[in-house]
Amino acid sequence: MDKRYEIINENYKRILFDIEDTCIKIGRNPKDITFLAATKTVKPEYINHAISLGVKAIGENRVQELCEKYNNINTNNCDVQFIGNLQTNKIKSLVGKVSTIQSICTISQIEELSKRLKRENAKIKVLIEVNIGSEYSKGGVNPNHLWEFIHEASEYKEIQIDGIMAIPPICENKIDVNEHFSQMHKYFIDIKTKKKDNVFMNTLSMGMSDDYKEAVACGSTMVRIGSGLFGDRIYS
Ligand SMILES: *Cc1c(COP(=O)(O)O)cnc(C)c1O
Repeated sequence: MDKRYEIINENYKRILFDIEDTCIKIGRNPKDITFLAATKTVKPEYINHAISLGVKAIGENRVQELCEKYNNINTNNCDVQFIGNLQTNKIKSLVGKVSTIQSICTISQIEELSKRLKRENAKIKVLIEVNIGSEYSKGGVNPNHLWEFIHEASEYKEIQIDGIMAIPPICENKIDVNEHFSQMHKYFIDIKTKKKDNVFMNTLSMGMSDDYKEAVACGSTMVRIGSGLFGDRIYS
């Protein structure tokens, strides 16, 4: 038997345990955390195995890869989301396939998405990606302009702003990463408190294989885990 299935079984159990354990320690309900499997480079048979174990959401990074794999993924009980950098001209391919785009950070993406959704009479939720470390090399809205951006984005009624997401900078130690996560949680609460039309703040997407426990402790409602579940990525 393919050993990778067993590895996925064990990893899945361990991650669920860790999430529950962290929640219990800080008095959160584990049901409030969505475990999204980040599936870039992962073959459909392994993705389907993870779904059969109970994974309820998956996230792909590249439009082309998503389209190639889409028909072979068992999406009946699983929510498909987009989590990667997104070129405006690829947005049309996502309509009808994904429930949520997690990585929106420009108004031109929102304009294009709105146009497509109107044409197809479809709905897609979006998360606004925040460049929490203000890194030059990374996408995401600069934290200083986050509210201004959300204010402008909320004018597009075809989309629903469901939350925010971040990929913090690589940190030498856990204290620094916790600071980024706590800052994200603060933005999340601040925006939610403003109760703006069309802005919901149901989802705070942060935490990956190396730091999901810290993220949950800081208030994350969705962790995105790839290698920690499927094993090291094999780029072909
Ligand atoms: C790849 C990826 C992940 C998962 O990363 P791992 O370190 O493998 O858990 C999460 N979020 C995004 C946006 C990714 O691209």
